[in-house]
Amino acid sequence: MYCPFCNAIDTKVTDSRLIRENNQVRRRRECLDCKERFTTYENAELSLPRVIKRDGRRDAFHEEKLRAGMVRALEKRPVALEQIEAALSRILHKARACGEREIPSAQIGEWVMDELHSIDQVAYVRFASVYRSFQDINEFREEISRLEQNAKTELIK
Ligand SMILES: [Zn+2]
Repeated sequence: MYCPFCNAIDTKVTDSRLIRENNQVRRRRECLDCKERFTTYENAELSLPRVIKRDGRRDAFHEEKLRAGMVRALEKRPVALEQIEAALSRILHKARACGEREIPSAQIGEWVMDELHSIDQVAYVRFASVYRSFQDINEFREEISRLEQNAKTELIK
């Protein structure tokens, strides 16, 4: 995005939000050269970013794959389809509003894990174990015992 004041190429997105009514993304930007700030309005349908895979290849953002991954993690769990759809739309919103043209798949994975963490902890662990590829088995165990700790605290309350 060119700066309209000095035509520099490097501008930084400082704030980004999706405007639902007219499906636009409003972005506050700051020029890295002249420090001027300005606002852009972009059509949201252009703004689902491309995905940077772990090996560096770029791919289109596949909403269906994302949904399938979440449904798989939530298999046989007591979670309504509407809850999955609501979580999915929050993730898509984040992707559209983040202001980047390309985002790492790991970032999307983190968003999914945030959602699953608040929906269903079993699904969260299932997804995290695959997606985050835990450094080693100890890290995985720590995560499990942290979840167990949380569950106990909730029971005590
Ligand atoms: Zn500038």
